[in-house]
Amino acid sequence: RAKTDARGSHVIFESAIRREIEQRLTLEAELALAVERNEFELFYQPQVDLLSGRVIGAEALIRWRHPTRGLVPPGDFIPVVNTSPLSEAVATWVMTTAVRQARTWQLDGHEIRVGVNLSPSQFQSGDLAAFVSKLLTVTGLSPRLLELEVTEDILLHDEPGVLQTFNRMRALGVSLVFDDFGTGYASLSYLKKFPLDGLKIDRSFVRDVLTRADDAAIVGSTVSLSKQLGLSVIAEGIENAATAEFLLRLGCEHGQGYHFGKPTPAADFTQRFLQVDDTRRAGAA
Ligand code: C2E
Ligand code: MG
Ligand code: MG
Ligand code: MG
Repeated sequence: RAKTDARGSHVIFESAIRREIEQRLTLEAELALAVERNEFELFYQPQVDLLSGRVIGAEALIRWRHPTRGLVPPGDFIPVVNTSPLSEAVATWVMTTAVRQARTWQLDGHEIRVGVNLSPSQFQSGDLAAFVSKLLTVTGLSPRLLELEVTEDILLHDEPGVLQTFNRMRALGVSLVFDDFGTGYASLSYLKKFPLDGLKIDRSFVRDVLTRADDAAIVGSTVSLSKQLGLSVIAEGIENAATAEFLLRLGCEHGQGYHFGKPTPAADFTQRFLQVDDTRRAGAA
């Protein structure tokens, strides 16, 4: 009897694994088609100066416009992309599209910094710094308008190439910021080890900052730490005005979150956040 049970669960376990493998292969095949068919889009989320409300930047966030499933968020496919042979093609597309968009905005007189999320595989294959350098030259974008976001999974591998790539990209004039700061295992030691320009305080510390003294202490000391280290700092995930005001009181000058705007297509971003005075346009026409 015990034997039957054991065999039974063994079979269930095997079929669960098989199903998971099949799902992954299906998703990979669909993603390969998505690359060919250009089904990816970049959305942009505003980053603002909390005191003036001025839009100072935009984070580029990938979306997959799936033919039947609609808009798929990155959490549902980026982990698969990043561990598949497609990672380089997708990462190249993201960087190229974001840099071109930033240049379009710059040419229209909007000097906003565009943030691009990097993935670990970009540090393994090829020469990221040379690619970024070429892209800046080809498009004409000012390097100061490009900000690269790195997470701890990039820093923790401790490959010698990472530090070198960072140094070369900073030499280009591009900035590097530590995304989801505070959520990893060794955030502070990375501040010492890597040449970073700023950090983004993770949403998990910002969400309840009004009601939780521990979150307020963590955010407040992270802000003062960044100032002492000469780093820029931005709070992620601000969902209401009261949180924005409180962050300002904690000394945090920049913010991002649904309160200011959800990620949205470039054309909509331009219209909502960068529109110049229409009367001036009409007058010039
Ligand atoms: P992230 O880089 O930390 O991006 C911030 C995420 O928080 C975005 O989710 C954004 O929509 C969400 N968010 C912003 N403000 C608020 C808020 O006020 N409330 C709430 N609840 N959420 C907010 P999204 O777009 O789903 O992206 C998730 C993650 O996927 C990103 O986290 C980033 O790690 C990754 N990702 C997105 N686009 C790319 C990409 O092009 N390349 C790579 N490698 N990763 C990407
Ligand atoms: Mg990010
Ligand atoms: Mg983040
Ligand atoms: Mg994140």
